[in-house]
Amino acid sequence: MKANGLEPVASSRPSVPSTEALAVRAACAASALERSIQRLLRARDQTLGQLEVQAAPDVQELLRQALQRAAQAKADATPPTCPVCGQPLSRLSCGHARSFQSRYGDITILRTRGYCKRCRQWRPPAAAALGLEESAGDSPAVQDLAALRVSKMPVEDARAVLQHLPGVELPRATLDRAAKRQGQRAQRWRAPLDRQAVRTQTQLELPLEPDQMIIQLDAWNIRARDAWGQGAAGRRRGLPPERWHWVYPGTCFRLDHRGHTNGGRPVITQRGFVLTRQGLDGWREPLHAEALRRGLGQAAGALVIADGAVWLWRRADDRWPHARQRLDFYHAGQHLAAGGRGLFGEDADQLKRWLKPLVQQLKNQSAVKGIPKLEALLAPLPEGSAATAVSREVAYLREHRERLDDRAAQRAGEPIGSGPVEATCRQAQCRFKRPGQFWSRAGDEARLGLETFWRNERWHLLFPHSSFNPARN
Ligand SMILES: [Zn+2]
Repeated sequence: MKANGLEPVASSRPSVPSTEALAVRAACAASALERSIQRLLRARDQTLGQLEVQAAPDVQELLRQALQRAAQAKADATPPTCPVCGQPLSRLSCGHARSFQSRYGDITILRTRGYCKRCRQWRPPAAAALGLEESAGDSPAVQDLAALRVSKMPVEDARAVLQHLPGVELPRATLDRAAKRQGQRAQRWRAPLDRQAVRTQTQLELPLEPDQMIIQLDAWNIRARDAWGQGAAGRRRGLPPERWHWVYPGTCFRLDHRGHTNGGRPVITQRGFVLTRQGLDGWREPLHAEALRRGLGQAAGALVIADGAVWLWRRADDRWPHARQRLDFYHAGQHLAAGGRGLFGEDADQLKRWLKPLVQQLKNQSAVKGIPKLEALLAPLPEGSAATAVSREVAYLREHRERLDDRAAQRAGEPIGSGPVEATCRQAQCRFKRPGQFWSRAGDEARLGLETFWRNERWHLLFPHSSFNPARN
């Protein structure tokens, strides 16, 4: 503090390096690199790994200063107009210091701020020009890194992994906050993008192609943080907390996009995904948009594959009324096994001997033929748990008999199981269903939104600087 009581302004002002200063810094970095190389050549105990790690700090400060210079120059060159409505800003004042976290360290620049009469908001026009408008002080590359890492792994793991990358030291709080903000941005973008896809795809008059669109549905539970700390009080009032909530996944792909790798592993080369906790309608409409993007409008037919949950089929009936339906073969087999356990109890060998031909029959012939066999078994059974178990499974197979023609499916080269959507569930569960994890609706939907953008190859829409496309890389 100075004697006159004024804060010293100069000390808080960022020092923006000149072109000449950057050139000097670059020369210093080059000689530091050369010294590192010489050290590597002399040291018998060093491999290329030491140089790979040591070389990063040699150039990192150069990169940070170059970014700072570029950011200040870009901010200075930004016209004083509102980035939202384009109106000229009034009451301009300059010299507002703003710090943000970049990939190579902290950067501070001075910005101009002005008032937009139309939006009735104070605006710093440089924020939009620099890609900082929907961030709490994180550069676009940091937003991208945080969003991707945190959607793939817990925040603490993401911090440790990123720290291992040269020059990226992001605190846990920064990662968590940046990922959540970017996830919320993904959520806001999702609905307009889907509406646009539905509009364009339904307006296009494309010729029909003799291909089938496969749509697979499922559901799983996520553990939530509802009524955190109030569980005991709720139980006393007779209202135990509901900690588990449905996540709805779906996937869609064209039949001719299935193939095999050189090693013979089956793959689907292009497919769309939806993962959401926004309820059944919040799931069905994005999945429909995704199916349209992948060619539902042109496909000669559509096939919905799911397990036996009644509400899944009801949704499928409403949304894709002309689609054929198929019960997942594995689920049907599980129901046969449940009937068998009713007959043979825990005698595993007997159950296996009984089950094997029935499962084969289910696969090779229409299930309709298997139902009378079960009914024949049921007839002589005395009333009791075995009869109840078998009759429950007979009823189940009867209900789904139209969805069980696996023989016809295999002849047509169509899938008989919902493996792709089950795999999607499993992968998401590895991230979202770890021991000790509890989610809030805002937190998990934001991260599910990021995962959806990533899997659907739309990451570049959120982060235009990012050229990474998981489908192409
Ligand atoms: Zn405005």
